[in-house]
Amino acid sequence: MTRTTMVRRAAAVLVGLCLALSSAVVTAAADTLDDRNAAADSSVAQSQALVSASADELNAASARVEAARVSLSQAQSALGTAEAVALQAAQDLADAQAVDAQKALELQEANEALAQAQADETAAQQAVDAQQDAIGAYARAIYQDSLPLVAIASLFDADSVTSLGNRIQWTTTILDTNNRIREELEVSHAALVRGRLAREDAQAKADEAKAAAQAQVEATQDAKDAADAAEAQAQAARDAVQNALNEQVAAQEAARQTLEANKDRLAQAQAEKAAVVAAIEERARQEAAAAAAAAAAQGGSGSGGPVPSGNWLTYPVTPVIISSGFGWRVDPISGASAFHNGVDFAAACGTPVRAAASGTVVTKRWAWDGGNELYVDHGWIGGNHVITSYHHMSGYAVNAGVWVSQGQVIGYVGTTGYSTGCHLHLILWLNGTPVNALGYL
Ligand SMILES: [Zn+2]
Repeated sequence: MTRTTMVRRAAAVLVGLCLALSSAVVTAAADTLDDRNAAADSSVAQSQALVSASADELNAASARVEAARVSLSQAQSALGTAEAVALQAAQDLADAQAVDAQKALELQEANEALAQAQADETAAQQAVDAQQDAIGAYARAIYQDSLPLVAIASLFDADSVTSLGNRIQWTTTILDTNNRIREELEVSHAALVRGRLAREDAQAKADEAKAAAQAQVEATQDAKDAADAAEAQAQAARDAVQNALNEQVAAQEAARQTLEANKDRLAQAQAEKAAVVAAIEERARQEAAAAAAAAAAQGGSGSGGPVPSGNWLTYPVTPVIISSGFGWRVDPISGASAFHNGVDFAAACGTPVRAAASGTVVTKRWAWDGGNELYVDHGWIGGNHVITSYHHMSGYAVNAGVWVSQGQVIGYVGTTGYSTGCHLHLILWLNGTPVNALGYL
């Protein structure tokens, strides 16, 4: 039902032209056309395979691009997390460094307190030493009873010296003085002990503050180093995935361009095939017209005479289900208005196709639009050269060159070529021009 090629009506001018051609020229042209036809078929098939392969490659490349985009999204997310961790670590380090600075201040204060405590201790020690020396001197003087007055006088108040004449009084004064010095020694010693304790305390506090600040800074520095390393790693991973994505996108674009080039190539091959088919049909039309003219010249019943009406053709397929008639219609595949040059018989694929009339099988060929085609030449009927052709068949039952009887199985219904389903497309040719076969069935 889908053969859409428009075949122009044969013109008398063309009949004359064909008569002028020698058979040798016709044969050479036929060989050239057949060669072109075979080459065009091969080119179309090759281009279709290339288009199919490059479409597959484009699909695969697109899938890889999609996968790379997903990976990039994941890597981007991981990088974001690592950056947040690194930022937090940097803040932690800043905090720890602030604590460290505070501890350094505390250490300095503790060291100053330590220095003061040491000075206090030294002073107290010197005071104790001096007083012990003084006490020792008094003790020796008292017990040896040989006090040098000048030396003693230097140790007492002027008031005491004025009453030296009284031995009792003198002794009492010495004892009082001794007691006062002892009390002062005790105070100095206590100050020494406190100074030692203060110094030890300051030292411990300074050591503790210093160690704590140092540990804090080191731990935080370690955490920041680890976070920085993780961020660098995430950045490298993200960059690698980005590079992979770029490569996949480039590969996808290359595949797209290859597909476009192959589509162009297929379009060119299909155009060449259409031109060849048109030329072959034109040749068949010219041959029929030439044969008709030759018969008329030999005194036949005349060119283009009336074809006997009635059912001198028999149905090629039974049961008879006509799915599309002859004439203008909307093409079922393209949707465009097109001339339907035959009659479509719906039938299951594999149904036998029978010769509509007796004749010689003249052509058995593959065509991109008609699929498996067979042409039967019925010779002359009422002064007209009659041919029937059968299209879209799944296979053949006869070979070219044989004589077939009306009703003989010549092939099988199919859906090859430009077709949407199993059916037989029958064309009745009168002098190379398709006519409505239903008028003769
Ligand atoms: Zn059709």
